[in-house]
Parts: sequence; structure tokens; C-alpha cells
Amino acid sequence: MAQEDLFKKLIAHCKEYGYVFPSSEIYDGLSAVYDYGQYGVELKNNIKKYWWDSMVLLHENIVGIDSAIFMHPTIWKASGHVDAFNDPLIDNKDSKKRYRADVLIEEQLAKIEGKIDKEVEKASARFGEMFDEAQFRATNGRVLEYQIKWDELHNRFAEALNNADLVELKQIIEDQEIVCPISGTRNWTEVRQFNLMFSTEMGSTADGSLKVYLRPETAQGIFVNYMNVQKSGRMKIPFGIAQIGKAFRNEIVARQFIFRMREFEQMELQFFVRPGTELEWFEKWKQLRIKWHQALGFGNENYKFHLHEKLAHYANAAVDIEFKFPFGFKEVEGIHSRTDYDLSQHQKFSGKKIQYFDPELNESYVPYVVETSIGVDRMFLQIMAASYHEDTVEDNNGQKETRVVLRLPAPLAPVKLAVMPLIKKDGLPEKAREIIEELKFDFNCQYDEKDSIGKRYRRQDAIGTPFCVTVDHDTATDNTVTIRYRDSMLQERVQISQLRELISAQVGFRTLFKQLKD
Ligand code: ATP
Repeated sequence: MAQEDLFKKLIAHCKEYGYVFPSSEIYDGLSAVYDYGQYGVELKNNIKKYWWDSMVLLHENIVGIDSAIFMHPTIWKASGHVDAFNDPLIDNKDSKKRYRADVLIEEQLAKIEGKIDKEVEKASARFGEMFDEAQFRATNGRVLEYQIKWDELHNRFAEALNNADLVELKQIIEDQEIVCPISGTRNWTEVRQFNLMFSTEMGSTADGSLKVYLRPETAQGIFVNYMNVQKSGRMKIPFGIAQIGKAFRNEIVARQFIFRMREFEQMELQFFVRPGTELEWFEKWKQLRIKWHQALGFGNENYKFHLHEKLAHYANAAVDIEFKFPFGFKEVEGIHSRTDYDLSQHQKFSGKKIQYFDPELNESYVPYVVETSIGVDRMFLQIMAASYHEDTVEDNNGQKETRVVLRLPAPLAPVKLAVMPLIKKDGLPEKAREIIEELKFDFNCQYDEKDSIGKRYRRQDAIGTPFCVTVDHDTATDNTVTIRYRDSMLQERVQISQLRELISAQVGFRTLFKQLKD
């Protein structure tokens, strides 16, 4: 299936099966805002639990907080967001559509990469097993031509971004003859900076109200609480503070479903270290975080690191973890070595001392920070995209049919098991309910008696339930049930008393956590 079709199907599936709805849908929606439905919220909570426990439970030197969304406006001055949290935007005068200038140029770079890949693909088909891709890339005339073009454009683009040179960005768009995908014209406005922070007013006093911002990242709530946590928790460096919470960005172009939203959720860790050790910790967190992703079993080849050449003003190293979404490799998580920038800025702007006395060195310093920052919603999209499958299976009459199955990792699945009486009489529903009454303390269970067993299995496959338990006439006499496994569709007969242990072993986070060991 073409990746574009897959993505469309995935969005439709999310809506049809109660995972994600467009916000305010009966009023025609609100751009780039989404609501999570009855299964979506369960999956989201499980993702958050996987992250939170992997930080706070598995590391004795990491604690969590939950800071407010509203914060003193000077915080955003100190952090640089008031002056520098901008994206370069450009409008097409004919279509009246707005674009991010940097994204237009990045797409142009991707186009050139695509041409190179096509050459490689063609040659690979021609030469078959004899094909040496590395040598072809290094020597083929056409590939080298494209590569030179890519390098030139990339260097020019990086320099323009580093210098925040808006005139040059516009010039690049003109020189590359980039057209608006809607109007097809090159009738562009100048490039302007656009601040991504939402603001609102707080209170109403005679002197006027206070302009406050909806936080664009959760990190600052951690930095301004650094001293509170360090002192009250008697934390010793190195230590980390984790937080999960909403963030808001007035994104210029909001596309690709929940990949880029205006209201989203972040899971951030700020890890405080001794100055000079930050790059070691950066490497360590890079490895720990990729393991966290890979433990889910979606295939290691679907992840890659993307090292930043252009560093934010506060960083001395930065890398993204990218996942292969249906629309290409894109960032899900950023790992940044933020130096002592944030704490120093807050020390300066607040006039309060923000330091750590290191008893081993017998000196005080402003700690350095390594941050890991991941979007819950992007993680959600990654999991849904990787889990969505259409299998061809045979029905009872030997006819081929398509089954849509969400192969969600069992610990993340919203519903862990469905219990189904084979028919709606002879005491089978009561027996099924009895099983649920026992297991609901441990697992999210669902009772389903409507339609044929086959149809009920399909329904559970579509929401990703890993186990279906069927109660039949034998159950009453021998206390056994049929358990059916979502991915293999295999069925086996087990004692009711075995169910709890059997399911626990699969849906607990234990096996995932064991893979995260250093
Ligand atoms: P991008 O380059 O895609 O705009 P970013 O580099 O600005 O992202 P960060 O500021 O590093 O992102 O934020 C950390 C994480 O928060 C990202 O890796 C992503 O998972 C998530 N995130 C950022 N912006 C959004 C958004 N608008 N919608 C959903 N998730 C987001």
C-alpha cells in the first residue's frame, strides 16, 4: 500500500475506532487541535506511564514534578522565547497560503535526496546482487552532480539560518524556483519572523492586566523549580527532574494530523550534571532514549539519529531521534545539551542564586543540563503508524478477507482482553461476567456478546486488544476457556485460573523495562 494511502487510512481508523477526533468537529473543527477518544486516552496514558516509570521508577536520582502552565512572564524573557522563539514565514500572494520558509527549503533538499535515491534504486535493479551501493554513490556522475547541488544548497541554507538572514532565505527560495504547491506560482511575499507563543491576559486591576503566555515547552517549569526540588529532595548532582504536561505553539503550518499540533503534550527530562561532564551524559542519554523506543519492537531500522548542525543559542550538542513515519523520517524526540544557559539566565533575571554546592569539589557552580524532550502525540502517532496492519486472512468458508489489526505492544494496548460468551444464553454471559469481575482489578477488560464470534474478533483486532477469551458450553463443566492471540490468531484452551498470570506476563511493563538496562 502506498504510504500516503496508509496515512489516510490510519487517520480514518483513529476516528472510526475512538482513538482521535478532530476538535470541535460539529463546528467544522479547529485547525491543528485534536481530541483523544475512549481508546486514544487509554493509549496516551499508557505511553505516559511507560515514559514516566522508565524515568522516575528506574532511576533513583530522577524525580518528577507537575508545574503550572501559566508562569511569570519574565521567565519567557529570560529563556529567550519572547525574543527568539520565531519561525520564518512566507506567504504566497496568489493562493494566500502561508508556509515556513525553512520547511520549503528543507523540502527542496529532500527532493534532491529523492533524485539520488531513484538513481540508486534504478542501478540496484539493473545490477542485482552485484550492486555495490557505496561505490555507486561515490562514483556515479549523475549522483555526484545531485550531491554537489545538495551540498551547495544545504550550506547556503545552514548559513542563512545561523545568521537569521531572512533576505537570504527569500533569495534561496527564488533561486531554487520553489513554487507554491497550491497555486503553482512563485509570487512570494518577503520572509518575516513569527513568534510561536500564545498569549493571554491574567487578572484585571486598575493598572491593567498582566500579559501571560501559554508555555511553549514544559522545560522552564523545571528550571525555575530547580532549587526547590534540589533542596526539598536533598538531591545530589547528577540528578534529573521529569515532567509531563501540555505545551502550546502557534505553529504556522499545522499538517500531518497529530504530528504538529497547536496544543500538544511533552514528556521532558532535565538532567543536571557537573560542568564539563555534559557531553558524556549527552551520549549516555542518547543511547538510553533510543533503547526506550526500540524496546517496543517496531524494528530498529525504523529509527535514526539526526545530529543538528545548527545549534540553538543555548546548546552545545543536539540530536533528534527520528522515526520512519508514513511521510518519511521525522523527529519524535530531541536530546539537547543545554549547557548552563537556562539556569544562568534565571539567576540573572530573578536575582536569586541558582547554584549547587558540590561537596566532592568543595565548590559551587551553576549545573549544566542535558534534556530529553519527546512529544506524547508524536509518540502516539508513531505507535499507531507502526501498529496498523491490513492482513489477508481466510474466513470459515475459505474466502479471503482483509482484517485490520492494530499490533500494539501489549503493555500499551487500551483494552487488554475481551471476554465473550459464545452465545447469549445457557448461563454463558453470566460466566463471562464472572471472569471480568475477577480480572478487572488487574486489566482493562471488555465484555462483548453482540454478533458472531468472528465479527467480535475483528472488532477487537481493530482496536488492538491482545487477548480474546471465549466462554462456551464446556466452560461450565471444566472451567476452561479459549484464549485467542491477536497477532498469530492462534487459539488455545486454558484454565480460567491461569488467565491472570498468562495475561500479566504479557501486558506488564517489566519486559520492556528489562531491555532498558544500561
Ligand atoms: P519541530 O522541528 O518538529 O518543530 P522542535 O524541534 O521545535 O520540533 P522541540 O522544541 O525539540 O521540537 O520539542 C520536543 C518535542 O516536542 C519534539 O520532538 C516533538 O515530539 C514535540 N513537539 C514539538 N512541537 C510539536 C507540535 N507542534 N505538535 C506535536 N508535538 C510537538
